[in-house]
Amino acid sequence: MPTYHIITYGCQMNKNDSQRIETLLKGMGLESTDEKSVADVIIINTCSVRQSAENRVFGHLRDFRALKEKNPRLVIGITGCMPGRDHDGAIQKKLPLIDLFFPIADMCQLPRWLCELRPELVNSLDPVEDYLKIRPERASGAQAFVSVQTGCNKFCTYCVVPFARGREKNRPLADILAEIRDLASHGVVEILLLGQTVNSYQAPDPETFSKQNPYHDHFAALLWEVNQVPGISRLHFTGPHPIHMNDETIDAMTLPAHLNFIHLPVQAGDDEVLRRMNRRYTVALYLDVIDRLRARIPNIAIGTDIIVGFCGETNEQFERTVELYEKVRFDICYIARYSSRSGTAASRAFKDDVSEEEKKHRWNVLQAVQERIVLEKNQECVGTDVSVLVDRSDFGFCYGNSREMKLVKCPGGDEMVGNVVNVKIVKVGMWMMEGERVEK
Ligand code: SF4
Repeated sequence: MPTYHIITYGCQMNKNDSQRIETLLKGMGLESTDEKSVADVIIINTCSVRQSAENRVFGHLRDFRALKEKNPRLVIGITGCMPGRDHDGAIQKKLPLIDLFFPIADMCQLPRWLCELRPELVNSLDPVEDYLKIRPERASGAQAFVSVQTGCNKFCTYCVVPFARGREKNRPLADILAEIRDLASHGVVEILLLGQTVNSYQAPDPETFSKQNPYHDHFAALLWEVNQVPGISRLHFTGPHPIHMNDETIDAMTLPAHLNFIHLPVQAGDDEVLRRMNRRYTVALYLDVIDRLRARIPNIAIGTDIIVGFCGETNEQFERTVELYEKVRFDICYIARYSSRSGTAASRAFKDDVSEEEKKHRWNVLQAVQERIVLEKNQECVGTDVSVLVDRSDFGFCYGNSREMKLVKCPGGDEMVGNVVNVKIVKVGMWMMEGERVEK
């Protein structure tokens, strides 16, 4: 049987897109292989958020040359953000060995292109028009990603996504719910809804919402609908935009399936930096969202993303980000050092004038604050019971995330994988808590 090998970089959205590519390739009669040296087709799904992510793709070139010498009929395709943002063809020029170079939204053409390049590989060709209509191929398990939209209309000045993925496009509610019902019927209990600004979701088919649905905001109403799907007991979403965190959405987060967690990117704690980033909110607005969340869900765990060393960020402005961090006491933060991306507004309008050394310093300062707060917050969990969805086991221990999305370890074997267990926390570290299983 002909085989394929997929390499995925980047966010959950990219992982979900790679699952769609798998569906297409399997539908054509190809089989997955972990070994790229024996594959007939290799697809790399790329990320452009930072230059280092793109460099990793260029790093494969030598390897690909050797593979092509061994098997000249090998087809190598590159998709994802790199082709998406390569409007002048400059990136493609640097990748001479690549047979297919296409933005993710064009993946529906993959069967046709493969048929042209290697007709003997393809035993079936089912045309699909909209890539979001392709059901992602999933490994078995209790958790699944479900995309509700792709693209973005926000144009944050540092971000390539609106160029790489295009404008925001929402999936019909009927398709989303059909996919979730199908997943639930196959044993999935946890759904992660995906979208670039997931809470700006607007259903193209609002007539699909149930008559009993109490919400007017489409994203809140979507959360309510997913709560009605039998079997789904854990629901969360990424990544929301602070300006769309309205009261209905916060209210829908109190419904039973919703996890006790939100990842709400802030990016900076200074209004002038936020303005230059075109984030469309102030620190006060962000803090107001946090206050409204905590008023309704007092012990909610909150994660965020922060960029340090954005163009023109002064020491004082960075200090305000540290102050914001101390004020909110985030449970987790992904800290990125600013990296200029060609094609973005920031790369044209501003100078990347914070030195690499200073960016590293700011990263270290914020990371130290994060580590202290994470440990303090984890210590508050000692003696409490948490509900954990076990997703793997190893050497007599199970691992999984609590409803606060904290990694928990407890005794148990393979038979526990996919189950929800209650764990009394007895010991905590920075990135993992340990405990004993207890009856509910
Ligand atoms: S909201 Fe901003 S950071 Fe997020 S995907 Fe859209 S443009 Fe990029």
